[in-house]
Amino acid sequence: MNSAFKVLIDDVEDYYNNIEDLKVLGPADPFQIRNHLSDRFDFSAPVPIENLINEVSKILRKWVIHTTHPRYFGLFNPTVSPASIIADTMAAAYNPNLAVWSHSPAAVEMERHVLRFLTGKFGMDPDSSIANFTSGGAEANHTAVITALTQAYPDYGDTGLAAIPDKPVIYVSKGAHDSFVKINHMTGLGRNALKKIDTSPNLKLDMEHLRKQVRDDRAAGLKPLFVAATAGTTGTGTIDLLEEIADFCSAEKMWYHVDAAWGGAAVLSREQKKHLKGIERADSVTCDAHKWFFVSMGAGMFFCRHPEAVSRAFRVSSTDYMPWSTSGIQEPYISGIQWSRRFIGLKVFMTLAEMGTEKFENILDDNARLGRLLKDKLIEKNWEIVNNTPLPVICFTHKKIRIGDTSTGKILEKMYERGRAWVSEIKLDGNARALRACITNFR
Ligand SMILES: *Cc1c(COP(=O)(O)O)cnc(C)c1O
Repeated sequence: MNSAFKVLIDDVEDYYNNIEDLKVLGPADPFQIRNHLSDRFDFSAPVPIENLINEVSKILRKWVIHTTHPRYFGLFNPTVSPASIIADTMAAAYNPNLAVWSHSPAAVEMERHVLRFLTGKFGMDPDSSIANFTSGGAEANHTAVITALTQAYPDYGDTGLAAIPDKPVIYVSKGAHDSFVKINHMTGLGRNALKKIDTSPNLKLDMEHLRKQVRDDRAAGLKPLFVAATAGTTGTGTIDLLEEIADFCSAEKMWYHVDAAWGGAAVLSREQKKHLKGIERADSVTCDAHKWFFVSMGAGMFFCRHPEAVSRAFRVSSTDYMPWSTSGIQEPYISGIQWSRRFIGLKVFMTLAEMGTEKFENILDDNARLGRLLKDKLIEKNWEIVNNTPLPVICFTHKKIRIGDTSTGKILEKMYERGRAWVSEIKLDGNARALRACITNFR
């Protein structure tokens, strides 16, 4: 086995060091990939692992978009730190199961350590809050809604929504992440109980519309429960008016959630963190380490200042097979959605430890600076910027696109054909589209 691990290291190192020589993407056709796999792998005869590593490496180099490439201006997938790659390998090798503390004391404590550090950065008190690693932001948002429902209706977990006389409603902006659509279905609230609030011209959740919708819903006998503010929307990087939403929720006695899946990383910056003011008042926060903490997928995080509600939400009466519980420990498998769970937090722990906070601050602020530079250069070349955020997501269009001389689709087709860089497009109001470039990259 020894040499196989060496082959692996050589491959990973070569990919990491020489990624700039690759195209960001090449042409991919599902039939070509399927035929290749059918030809090569019928699983009848064993393949030596060294050959297998080389084969898989070739396949991956050819047929994925290289999200860690310096010219991938993409969908919140960062360049990953070497510490993260190493940590994921160690997590696989040691394979601790983080369901119960007694089974993986060191791993659970390392996660707790890094989560307490980040809880403080979000302005919550680590001693009176709870935090979990999740598969990603969608699971963290899901955890938030389940917890908010349990806080408002302590019997929700036992009797289900059907036994609740109210009709609880969730509010997000039209720019919010659509994980809430699935969450409304999965929690039993129903997709119709998700109200998408208009955005104002600056793309932030429109407070006037929110006030009116909540007023109308109360009048119609519904029960406004939960507002998810977004701190860095997926499309345009827009940060909602966090303090105003916090005030509104506290006046209306609603749960104030902040979905900071991508933008939350700014709490670790020097210059960007001021834009998240108001997040410290949240009942719960979603943040994805796999978006702007330079760690590999999947590493979501859920922070909440109501530990009792979380315990109540995810408790089970008893199990016959789990190892013993430890007194004074909030057991992971009854603190969230997952049961057996991989050591997600190690890559966050090792990335923060290896870089140190100062380097981290510098990279985040430098990414923001590159975003501003891109914006300035685009304006200089007569492009028009259509979003407004201090964070490094730039959405841009051009007069020729607006009048129909060309389209974002045509531009992207050419760009993807060349394979030198990758940016995406977003749909604006109506049918208009703009190009979108995001910088989550320390290369
Ligand atoms: C990416 C994203 C999510 C979903 O997170 P996953 O890690 O993909 O599950 C939720 N909210 C926002 C704002 C996001 O950008």
